[in-house]
This record gives sequence, C-alpha cells and structure tokens, in this order.
Amino acid sequence: MQELSSMYSELGISKEVLEYGKKIEEKLKERFEKIDETAEYNQLKVIHAMQKHKVSEACLYSSSGYGYNDLGRDTLEEVYAEAFHAEAALVRPQIACGTHALAVALSGNLRPGDELLSPVGKPYDTLEEVIGIRPSKGSLAEYGVTYRQVELLEDGTFDYEAIKNAINERTKLVEIQRSKGYLTRPTFSVKQIGELIHFIKEIKPDVICMVDNCYGEFVERIEPSDVGADMVVGSLIKNPGGGLAPIGGYIVGTKECVENAAYRLTSPGLGKEVGATLGVNPAFYQGFFLAPTVVAGALKGAIFAANIYETLGFDVSPNGSESRHDIIQAVTFHVPEGVIEFCKGIQAAAPVDSFVEPEPWAMPGYDSEVIMAAGAFVQGSSIELSADGPIKPPYTVYFQGGLTWAHAKFGILMSLQKLVEKEIAVLPK
Ligand SMILES: *Cc1c(COP(=O)(O)O)cnc(C)c1O
Repeated sequence: MQELSSMYSELGISKEVLEYGKKIEEKLKERFEKIDETAEYNQLKVIHAMQKHKVSEACLYSSSGYGYNDLGRDTLEEVYAEAFHAEAALVRPQIACGTHALAVALSGNLRPGDELLSPVGKPYDTLEEVIGIRPSKGSLAEYGVTYRQVELLEDGTFDYEAIKNAINERTKLVEIQRSKGYLTRPTFSVKQIGELIHFIKEIKPDVICMVDNCYGEFVERIEPSDVGADMVVGSLIKNPGGGLAPIGGYIVGTKECVENAAYRLTSPGLGKEVGATLGVNPAFYQGFFLAPTVVAGALKGAIFAANIYETLGFDVSPNGSESRHDIIQAVTFHVPEGVIEFCKGIQAAAPVDSFVEPEPWAMPGYDSEVIMAAGAFVQGSSIELSADGPIKPPYTVYFQGGLTWAHAKFGILMSLQKLVEKEIAVLPK
C-alpha cells in the first residue's frame, strides 16, 4: 500500500496523468542536477554572508515601539547587502509588498523635474499607478516626475538606438524589470541586464539603474547588483523570503540609494534608525537561509510544467528547453476555461484551502478580472505554489512557486488532471 502511485491515485491523479508526468520527468534529470548545483552555490553564498556578519542568537530577538538598535534587523540588512554584493540594504516588515518596495525605491530617489525611463517596455501592472501611466492619487506624475518608455524589439531584445535617444538631461533613474510579469516577452538574464546597464552608463554615468528583481532571486549565481545595478528591489513573499517571511520587501544597492529609500519609507531624518521588527527576525533569517533550495524546487516545477504543456501542444514561455532567469512559467490556452481549470488544479493540490474553488475577480491595481489559485500559508505568497492569470486573450496562466519540488510536481499533475477531465488537454494514446 506504500506505492507512490496509489498515494497519487488517492489524491485524485489518474494513472494516465501520472504516467505522462513520469515520462516528462525522466527527460529532465540533467537539468535538475544543474539547478541543484546552483542552489548549492547560493546556499553557500547565504551561509557565508551570515557567518561574515556574525549572525548570533541575539539577532533572533524582537523589538517593539521605535525599534531603535534592533541588532537582528541591522545585521540582516548587512547579510542581504553581503549576499547581493551591494553596499547597503533595507529589509523591512514595514514594506507591505513588492509594489510598495518599488514605490519606495522610486519615490525616494526621484525629485520633481526628474524623468524615469523604462527601457524594457511596459512595467508590471501595479507600477502603472505608481508611475502615473494610469492616473492615481499620489503617483510620481502628481509630484512632477515624468516618464518615458522604450519598447523592446520584436524579438524581445533591447532597442539600443531608441534607448540612446530617450536618455536626456532630465533622465535620473532607469527601471529595468527582470521578470516578464504578466507579459509574454522573455525574462532577461542577469548578463543581459548587465549589458544594458553598461550601455546606459556609457551614455550617462550618473543615472541610477534600478532593477525590479521580483521572482529572479537565486535563480542564477549572480544578481543584478553583481553587474552594475545601483538598486535591486524585490518582495519577501516571493523568492528571498523562502516561504517563511510573512511580509516584507527589500531594497539593496548603493549606500546613497538605500538611504534615500529609507528616508521615504520611514521619514526624512529617521531613515533606517526606526522600524520595530515585531518578532519577524527568525522568519526573515530562516527564510533567506532556505531561499536557494526553495527557489530550486520552484524552478524544477516551472520546467516540468513547460515540458508537460509544450508536448501537449500548448504555447509555453519560456519553452521546455530554454535557460531560466525567473521562476515564472506562462502557459497559453487561448480559451478562458484553460486558465480557470489550471488554477482549479493548483488550488486542489494545496495544503491550505484545497477545498475552495478559485473564481475570477476584479483585483485592485489590475485592469481586467484576474483568477488566482493559492492555498498558501502566507496570504498571496507566490513563492508558494500558485497560479494566476488575467481573464483576457490570449488566456495565459502564470504559474510559479512551490516550497518543495514534490508539491510543485503534484500541483502540475493536478492541473493536468483537471484539463484532461474537461478535454481541454488530450493525452497521447
Ligand atoms: C510581483 C511583482 C511585483 C509586485 O509585487 P507585489 O508584491 O504583488 O506588490 C512587481 N514586479 C514584478 C516583476 C513582480 O513579479
């Protein structure tokens, strides 16, 4: 009775779906080994940073009130700075989410009359209101910061000529989004980002190059701060929180950029000196410690999903064999039911709320209905197994996360099970 197949069967996975998954998994052995090697490298990088900055038991204590002299908080920021090879870091539970971290980084470093440039096309949906591309109260546009955008070329590469033309005497900050987000363009490798930063700095050396690093942390052995980024920003309920951080965001980079951001997050004059940690330090440390292997599991899941759905004839991005630079997998179904059934499968495989059926809803910050599947321990955490997609053509679902490879695999098999039952996906005979 301890057969793996009977356990899967008990959980609702048919023999045919399990067999199909098995065939795909067998072809991925070598790639999975490479992922484990990267995780090993990054694990050592994190341990080295923790040892060098003398993380001690006292770092796991909590502060309240103003949070002056919070040893755990201050040391964790040194650890982040070290692991990212940056001068400084701001890692705080007061940062509500990734969008907030990006907004703090931008508004802390831009002043009225400055111009912000995105050389990689449209930024992530929620940033449209931060910047003021879609009008919003308190946007950068309301504070007199203008915005310019250069589209990517047809093949998803940088339009260097147009970027050069877009940089002017007011260009203060360039925002480069690493991950595709809700787009079908490719995610950039850290190397590509480095080339873009180098090109921009040749034209204007004092421009701040900031990278939205959401979903990219620990996928490679280097981070954007290793290739010239002045500021790298992300969410702790994605990769670097390792699934344990219950909230938070980070900004790493030059001392000046991080200080400007800190003055914005708390208050001018106060900066990093205040901000109690209210008991989150153990989760922040342990989550960062686990993040490299958690990211490895999520990456395996993404590659497994790509190969399952590609071989069944669906459009997948990245494709089954491409190299990876974030943990997101997009699958395009061309029918809304594809997105919905996929999400139902992910939800049904969750440890929490597996009995709930996800439904499309009008989520704040997004311009169409969105469906989300997440049976997560931390609400909305997308380093945990999750899937979401806007209900609009071409009906693409974005899948990511999985705290363990076994769970990611189970979730993908469950999604396939639902799609097969509804005859949206057909297994070869
Ligand atoms: C998730 C994400 C954000 C925003 O993060 P939230 O935590 O959802 O606010 C911004 N940019 C990218 C690329 C993301 O993936």
